[in-house]
Amino acid sequence: MSIKSKFFFIDCSEAAACCNKAQYEEANNFEKARLMLHLLFCKTCRKFSTKNSKLTGLLKKSKIETCPEDTKHQWREQIKKEFAEERT
Ligand SMILES: [Zn+2]
Repeated sequence: MSIKSKFFFIDCSEAAACCNKAQYEEANNFEKARLMLHLLFCKTCRKFSTKNSKLTGLLKKSKIETCPEDTKHQWREQIKKEFAEERT
């Protein structure tokens, strides 16, 4: 493998690391591009990536479900109330 192709073609462990970073929006565009390129050729990582993004999707969903807007509003009111009581 030439240096140039090594630069673009990452191996599976690097792809997995990129994939994890991409999940948390920590990967830059170059890393994402390299990951996409790897996913085009590598079935195993493609599987891993879809599994991973499904999991993140579920986590995001469950977070939203456990904390609806009116619950947040209630908390805010509670905090305000306690803060006011402390001051008087
Ligand atoms: Zn791979």
